Amino acid sequence: MAEKLRHNDHRVIGPKLNLYQQSELIGSGLPLFPWQGEVVINELQNFLRDLLNKNDYKFVRTPHLAKIALFKKSGHWDNYRADMFLTKSGNEKLAVKPMSCPIHTMIFKQESHSYKDLPKRYAEFATVYRDEASGALTGLSRVRMITQDDAHIFCDVNSLDQELSNLVKLVKQVYAVIGFEKIRVELSTRPTKYVGNIDTWNRAEEILGKVMKKNKMKFKINKGDGAFYGPKIDFHAEDANRKSWQLATIQLDFNLGPRLNATYTNKADKKEHPIIIHRALLGSFERMFGILIEHYNGAFPTWLSPTQVKVISFNDEMEKYTRTIEQKIRAAGIRVEGDYRSETVQLKVRDAEKQKVPYIIVIGGKEKANKTLAVRPRGSKPKFGVKMPDFLKRVKTEIKNRTI
Ligand SMILES: [Zn+2]
Repeated sequence: MAEKLRHNDHRVIGPKLNLYQQSELIGSGLPLFPWQGEVVINELQNFLRDLLNKNDYKFVRTPHLAKIALFKKSGHWDNYRADMFLTKSGNEKLAVKPMSCPIHTMIFKQESHSYKDLPKRYAEFATVYRDEASGALTGLSRVRMITQDDAHIFCDVNSLDQELSNLVKLVKQVYAVIGFEKIRVELSTRPTKYVGNIDTWNRAEEILGKVMKKNKMKFKINKGDGAFYGPKIDFHAEDANRKSWQLATIQLDFNLGPRLNATYTNKADKKEHPIIIHRALLGSFERMFGILIEHYNGAFPTWLSPTQVKVISFNDEMEKYTRTIEQKIRAAGIRVEGDYRSETVQLKVRDAEKQKVPYIIVIGGKEKANKTLAVRPRGSKPKFGVKMPDFLKRVKTEIKNRTI
């Protein structure tokens, strides 16, 4: 039986606003993003890229394919094999990467590092593919194409405290911009089967708890629920519909460094394996996009809106002048679309409202004569006699500040 979807489910809103599409012929779990969806994802990426550059992350770029031998060496083959798409070139067996961790680790390994340069932070908006069972695929929550806001931080145990504090601050910063306030944390500790040194585990878990307390984060301990290679913390929050989501994740890894023999030179001039932190702030862009569609009910804040301004000509005579207004707004760096159909203004306004555009501008004879704009901010009454420079300033400030 088909699942009955709520009116604010992203699988209802998304296709209605053309934020994403699906095609039988392309395949399930492989969403298409028309320009409207690409704008939102791109804005999220620009936001993160700026923030990460300011936090001394270095962006890297890695291939979508790698030899199976790499995933065997890293240990991922044993755990992820069933989810991997496999291919080959001649006799060489390759896999479409299900994650970037071993590839980022190879970059670190092929450079030389001293304890003084740690932590090193490699980030990538990497699209990975996982062969999720087709029955589990739904909307943007479960997909086969996953664009992660991925990063791997290579550090030693001495820099762990500071680095984790930085990460918690980043998580808070990101979710404040998006509008998720009540964040709670779950800390998962050492399972019975584990790798690495027990002292490092204990120290890492202690540091994780201390960092949460220092940052006044409410947290719950999931005893024994960590991965075999390290403890982790997961961040959860409620959206505007009070639906709870697992968001950011920070995972310590004592295994991958030794597995791939990645090293740095320690204080005693000896080679040592770094602790690797896997971390994602948004999770994946596809899933986060789905969450945000529901959180905002399709009415994105101006900075994320595919169309920020809609200009509407009062009638056919106004078309030429209205097009010059559209061009001026576009030249100011604002995403604007025009509606010049020979329909009534009421109908055109209603359509723009259905598209949840933040600002609707109607241009009639009076506006042309007075060189002003009639502006309707989303959900408010129209304002007449608005001067173009004032309007541009207002919208640009809103975009720059990422006002919600
Ligand atoms: Zn990773």
